[in-house]
Amino acid sequence: MREPSTPGTEIVLLGTAGGPRVRASRAGIASAVVLGGAVYLVDFGYGACRQVKLAGLDLSRLRAGFVTHLHSDHIADLANLLLFGWYQNLENLARPARLLGPGSRGGLPTAAADLGPREVACPDDPTPGFAATVRHLHQAFATDINDRMRDNGRSHPDRLLAAADIELPAGVPFDPATAPAPPMEPFRVYEDELVRVTAILVHHAPMTPAYAFRFDTAEGSVVFSGDTGPCDNVVTLATGADVLVHEAIDEQWVQRAYRGETARERAMVAHHATAHTPIREAGLIAQKAGVGTLVLSHLVPAELDRPRWHEAADAFDGRLIVGEDLIRIPLRR
Ligand SMILES: [Zn+2]
Repeated sequence: MREPSTPGTEIVLLGTAGGPRVRASRAGIASAVVLGGAVYLVDFGYGACRQVKLAGLDLSRLRAGFVTHLHSDHIADLANLLLFGWYQNLENLARPARLLGPGSRGGLPTAAADLGPREVACPDDPTPGFAATVRHLHQAFATDINDRMRDNGRSHPDRLLAAADIELPAGVPFDPATAPAPPMEPFRVYEDELVRVTAILVHHAPMTPAYAFRFDTAEGSVVFSGDTGPCDNVVTLATGADVLVHEAIDEQWVQRAYRGETARERAMVAHHATAHTPIREAGLIAQKAGVGTLVLSHLVPAELDRPRWHEAADAFDGRLIVGEDLIRIPLRR
């Protein structure tokens, strides 16, 4: 394990796997931005908290966490941050850390073509937004939380981690069914003396709202695409950035994995074709945005027998980095 990191300005890829599967080779999607010792996290995939530890980052330096969307592979480790982080490191926080994520999509999406009627899980609240998700986690672990508050003298978790939904600015013509990522200007979601974080809607329907985030600092800038199909809003957000961390899917793997012979397989092919970005397209987006470095992360599949990730360089003149867990990338070369 590394020693706690020295002050610097860098991106740490904590986990680089996409999809809700337990993998031996990679942890689930999660990234960190480290600015002079302050820590900011983006997404909380499977194993994220352990990866924070393995990276030598200090959770008591956590300023804010940002969730791109509410798929489980992006928030599975949120419970560990809320419970273990709360118990272990966050008590030393100088001030409460902010946690920000998308609000509710407002209702269930229609079922994919051919699938027929679907059952509904948790019909009383089938599409909770981010803040409600955190409240539900508190509810699920209330026995533990109250025990430790009364027996161990812990503070209420809200005193350490303040969760809130990202509010879209008025006038953005967002509609979860028909316009999940309309053309728009980036908007500010967080700012402190070290960083300004802006967001924009991206195309990951039917999972909406889904966001990309941009961090602007005195030492450089980085954009995280979150999960998205090829999306002009990512180009808008990433224009002129030093680093773009973009998701990528091997579309040839999709064809091999889902042969399209059943309604479920056809639905999966359609999902992967519209909600994720083929490798070469990620390079094209980086080229259009004029970024210095493209980092591929949220790799699907996480294990690829014949790595094709470098094909992103076909359309991109800058530096390409294929993501690996725990690699560190300076914000500015
Ligand atoms: Zn997703």
